Amino acid sequence: MKIIRRDFLNQTLLGAGAALLKMPAPAAAARAERDTFTGYGGVGDYALSNGDPWSVVSAGHRLTKEQFRPAASEIAETGESFDLIVVGGGLSGLGTAYYFAKATGGKKRCLILENHPIFGGHAKQNEFLVNGHRLIGPQASNDFGIPREGSRTQMDELFTELHLPREYGWAKWDDSLKPLRFARDNYSHMDGINDTQVDVGYYFGRQGGSGKPLWLRNIFASKLEGAPFSDRVKRDLLKWRATTGGSEELRRHLDTISYKDYLEGELQLDPQVTKFVEPVIGLICGASPDAVCARAGHNLVIPTSSPGGISYPGGNTTFGRHLVRALIPEAIPAEFSFAGVLNTAVDFKALDRPGAPTRIRLGASVMRVEHASGGVAVTYEKDGKLYRTRAPRAVMASAGWINRHLLADLPDELRAAYSEFHYAPAMSVNVALTNWRFLYQLEAPAVRYFDGEFGWSCNIRRPMMAGTYQPVLDPNKPNVLTFYLGLYTPGKSAAEQGELGRKKLLSTTYAEYESQIRRQMTTLFRAAGFRDSKDIAGIVLNRWGHARVIQPPGFYYGRDGKPAPREVVQKGYGKIAIAHSELNGHQNATGALAQGKRAAEQVTA
Ligand SMILES: Cc1cc2nc3c(=O)[nH]c(=O)nc-3n(C[C@H](O)[C@H](O)[C@H](O)COP(=O)(O)OP(=O)(O)OC[C@H]3O[C@@H](n4cnc5c(N)ncnc54)[C@H](O)[C@@H]3O)c2cc1C
Repeated sequence: MKIIRRDFLNQTLLGAGAALLKMPAPAAAARAERDTFTGYGGVGDYALSNGDPWSVVSAGHRLTKEQFRPAASEIAETGESFDLIVVGGGLSGLGTAYYFAKATGGKKRCLILENHPIFGGHAKQNEFLVNGHRLIGPQASNDFGIPREGSRTQMDELFTELHLPREYGWAKWDDSLKPLRFARDNYSHMDGINDTQVDVGYYFGRQGGSGKPLWLRNIFASKLEGAPFSDRVKRDLLKWRATTGGSEELRRHLDTISYKDYLEGELQLDPQVTKFVEPVIGLICGASPDAVCARAGHNLVIPTSSPGGISYPGGNTTFGRHLVRALIPEAIPAEFSFAGVLNTAVDFKALDRPGAPTRIRLGASVMRVEHASGGVAVTYEKDGKLYRTRAPRAVMASAGWINRHLLADLPDELRAAYSEFHYAPAMSVNVALTNWRFLYQLEAPAVRYFDGEFGWSCNIRRPMMAGTYQPVLDPNKPNVLTFYLGLYTPGKSAAEQGELGRKKLLSTTYAEYESQIRRQMTTLFRAAGFRDSKDIAGIVLNRWGHARVIQPPGFYYGRDGKPAPREVVQKGYGKIAIAHSELNGHQNATGALAQGKRAAEQVTA
């Protein structure tokens, strides 16, 4: 069946959606019609900021094409006075502002400039209302670990300061139903992560092109019995799955070679093992195993006995919201508790109030940053107008791919270091389902498939509950099915893989992706009763043009005895400090918060 854009609007936004969505249907439809890229954004605080929406992508492209040099007469000086300007309101930027406020007793003024319609960066969420059920899924940053109370790590202290609990409640599973093992995040089911602790259905298609599709469950637990691999490949896949951990010396060695060379050269595994692990490496490390250092790839293989990760309802969105609640209490006017912050809408007007010690200016695209008059001048565009604001110090928390275009006086040493950072796109898709009986029928809350038209795996989680957010776990009730995927091209360099993937990500319309997703789900699930027209209530795409820094050999410890580029960039220069998660090594929420803390210490020293 050919699905056209109008059909989708009729089915999910104007038809079923009109009664269900908080955003008035005509407004949602008008937005979707205007912009063939961004598509439907769900409801709630994040409805206008799914992934990088077209407005943000197009502003970024103007910058990366040429250095921005507006005439002075085009820029309005705001005349405001700040002690610190932070560029970027992701976890690094919010973390910077938090530690800056802490170090200065909340007495200094900090402005965060963020180009999205909401703060959070890669830590945002999608929300849906389906048949009266509120559903939340992560846009990108997803799992986290609970720090041990009293361990005195940054995260331990932050959990206490931000009123985050160490124990959580999870949706109940009815004992009278078939027992199913659910992931509590959207990574555990993936190859090499906690795949042995989740019920995963593996779809191998129609073997030989005809006949019944081959579905197997939990292939590693059954030692790949029945899987369409040769005995040698089966033996090698089991060896790969069991090769985990290692000494610091091994890690250093693995930083000098590609993951493909490690698997096929040093471990002598069949190239089909490399092919098997490609999607998870392509997603988390940003490129195929031939362009990624073995240290990064090997790190993703977790012992089968390790506990699985967990996710807040909207993934690490929670950290950003709690930081904002701590900095600007009126912006999330709720009791300062996990449930309060999760369930209370952001008061956007409160984010940028004159006189407040911390202000967050949304929809403000920074175009140029430079030293001027003994401090730093920051030029940004908001609502089509150019403004300049100034402070004695600035922190660039806006990621390396854009910083090198924004920083007009970037020294050669840092420019050279930045030129070694290559960024890869990634995408997540949250499909709101009216029911998931088809997954229950397959006894597989997570699915892995091969050579699909769209993606390679997806899952529904056992959702976390908090306060009035009480999602149910029932095959007959709504839930969110989440897909995560990288866009990589084996055989190309890291830089080329990033470019090619981005080209594909940017040139595919929402309608094309939507059709692919519907067809892919139909291929996988039709025999189990799935019908896209009645089982799908809404699809949100979250496209990230520069999701991951690709970690080629030398990324962690440098090459030829030289320091790693990330160490060079961390030094910053003049009055400008630089903080974004990839400077910490592997990108994660903890690393972003650590970078925020480091930058705040740098500017308050
Ligand atoms: C798909 C995906 C999945 C992930 N999963 C996990 C996970 O499960 N667990 C985990 O711990 N981590 C995960 N991460 C990594 C982690 O979320 C990120 O490393 C972290 O959130 C990055 O924070 P940041 O503040 O450094 O950068 P960002 O989140 O990129 O924030 C930078 C901010 O700067 C803004 N900005 C950029 N340019 C400008 C400009 N010119 N003007 C103004 N603002 C600008 C951006 O819009 C953005 O809001 C994931 C990341 C991705 C992409």
